Amino acid sequence: MMEKRIKMLLLRHGGYETARRLHQSFQDRKLRKRVRSFQETGFLPLPEAVMFEPTQRCNLRCRMCYQDRTALTGGDELDSGEIGRFFEGNPRLRKVTLYGGEIFMRKDILDIIRSLGPSRTVILPTNGTLVDERCAADLKEIGSVATVCVSLDGPAPVHDAIRGREGCFEKAARAVRSLAPFIPVTVTAVIQNDNVHVLPEMVDLCASLGARKIKYEMERLYGEDLMGRTRNEAGLGESDTAIVRKGRTREYSLETLRGALEACLRKGRERGVSVTFAPHFLMERLDSCYRDGLREDFPCFCHGFAMGAVAPNGDVIHCYVLRKVFGNIRERPLAEIWNSAEAARFRSRLIENNLTAACENCGFMALAPRRNG
Ligand code: SF4
Ligand code: SF4
Repeated sequence: MMEKRIKMLLLRHGGYETARRLHQSFQDRKLRKRVRSFQETGFLPLPEAVMFEPTQRCNLRCRMCYQDRTALTGGDELDSGEIGRFFEGNPRLRKVTLYGGEIFMRKDILDIIRSLGPSRTVILPTNGTLVDERCAADLKEIGSVATVCVSLDGPAPVHDAIRGREGCFEKAARAVRSLAPFIPVTVTAVIQNDNVHVLPEMVDLCASLGARKIKYEMERLYGEDLMGRTRNEAGLGESDTAIVRKGRTREYSLETLRGALEACLRKGRERGVSVTFAPHFLMERLDSCYRDGLREDFPCFCHGFAMGAVAPNGDVIHCYVLRKVFGNIRERPLAEIWNSAEAARFRSRLIENNLTAACENCGFMALAPRRNG
């Protein structure tokens, strides 16, 4: 009870924001040090975090989804035994994000989560449609789930229109309500043309469902031209990106966005809801983010240097966008793949190019201080 009151006080008076900024700037500094060490030695220690994709299948087809499901769901998926053995053999991987697609499409997802063991930190992003009260109770019983991130992009009519199916909102809301009493829930909303006007309302919605955190993410706008530049910069083929290019553009102004996000922060303080953004520096660098000018304005870093990524078939890839394959965990140990000559070449190229066009507004980007002061 006392802990809850202290949290509320910190949220209302901005203490959480300060603590979060300090934590993030510490993480970013650690990352920059890691990248510098890689530049000097060509070696990158194994990461402690991994984005592991049990599946790329999904039961929805959201307007803003950029993943090419035809390309991504072709290969076979590791079974739960293979996944369990992989984690058993890689105890250093302490922080696991199970990422999709929609991870609850896998019937054995609870077995997979159990197989990670009790001492890892597990994060589960989901569209929430398949998480009912029973599933929430099972996740509570497993005990290792640190956060469930449930996507909600607006009140019911807005959310269902974006997610392409009536009733999605109710199911996602049920997921938040069922989970929130036991497991920290972060509501995640993708900022887009269809919901920019209702973003502050989402804080109230979040609070009414019992969640205490909301994260607003910039929409990833992958056009034909941008993906062409990305492939050139990273030396990738078409199949290494597996992106559906929908030609979506930002139709709201910078000032509309700024006003909406400031209102979200104000509301968060009033309602005791922690409001965060992806990229985490969105408010401080809003102009650069809005015009996709981060790479022009800052030296950029990628948290993929401190975080592994594994596709459903066991391919070790750089990240969920730049799906360059370095090897497969069915064939070689992760340690060998992670420091292969090919992985090192790819990372060096990313550094030389100050990342790629597709990295603008990625939640895994970090910045160094601005060029020319
Ligand atoms: S729920 Fe996620 S993965 Fe599935 S279509 Fe929507 S955005 Fe894409
Ligand atoms: S910053 Fe770029 S390379 Fe790094 S995770 Fe994001 S999209 Fe991938």
